[in-house]
Amino acid sequence: MDAEIIDFEDARIRRGDHIVRGTAADGMVRAFAITARSTVQTAHENHGTSPLVTAALGRLMMAGQMIGAMSKNDNELITLTVRGDGPIGGLTVTANNRGQVKGFANNPHVWLPLKPGEHLNVGGGIGAGELSVVFDQPGTMPYSSQVELVSGEIGDDLTYYFAASDQVPTSVGVGVLVNTDTSVRQAGGFIVQLMPDYLDFVLDQLEANLAGVTSVTDMLEAGMSPSDMLRHILRDMDYKELDVMPAEFHCGCDEARASRAVLALGEAELRDMIAKRETAEIYCHFCGKRHYISPKELEDLLA
Ligand SMILES: [Zn+2]
Repeated sequence: MDAEIIDFEDARIRRGDHIVRGTAADGMVRAFAITARSTVQTAHENHGTSPLVTAALGRLMMAGQMIGAMSKNDNELITLTVRGDGPIGGLTVTANNRGQVKGFANNPHVWLPLKPGEHLNVGGGIGAGELSVVFDQPGTMPYSSQVELVSGEIGDDLTYYFAASDQVPTSVGVGVLVNTDTSVRQAGGFIVQLMPDYLDFVLDQLEANLAGVTSVTDMLEAGMSPSDMLRHILRDMDYKELDVMPAEFHCGCDEARASRAVLALGEAELRDMIAKRETAEIYCHFCGKRHYISPKELEDLLA
């Protein structure tokens, strides 16, 4: 009876955006894969992103969700920031270890000509610059590291980040496919990472397997789930799935946070707004929501 209940819940999670975690080669490989069409579609709707920015932001958000899923600390936040000299300017994404992510682009409406093969030019939109990753857990010093961007295509940049910071071979693939009406058609990705005590034959096998993987969007278009993607990438490597969790765009901003943000304007500024009967507007960059605080509420905050 218990097993039936668990299977039902598992199946429900797998119908929506979700992340799977798995392992292979006797624990020498750990692997994560995600499908996140709704997550990326929500970001597109919240920010009115162009297809190019939907792809760039979507790729970084899904990477954030998977890196978040690597964390064992429930209150840890992972923030990925890309700064580039291309027209998008920058991307900021924050994720936790429960599959929740929020994010925004500095310039959400950038359009560039497609590359050969009808591919969105994410690398051109980002340009040259750097990627930073910050791990922030309340009560401890935030830990951050930065790397130069390799291509601005996000997946390559994160692959390089893991090689530089964790010193272990890691492959990151993230892809977003946009419909002609600008809605999100497919969004997904994977992170496959060797553990520090890996043996060389495992690396050889993984490299051979990855050479036969075309792209994340090809796998998604072929109808593959995150589970299918990992089984494909880790074929003949004794892949075992550990668990599945839901994934979503979640901001968490609310009136209380907006009130705290407005207090940062300082008492003199707020007294001035109250005198002029002005309503304060707090714009949340992460989800695009506007919070309004009336003069009466401003008075209550200062009381
Ligand atoms: Zn928000």
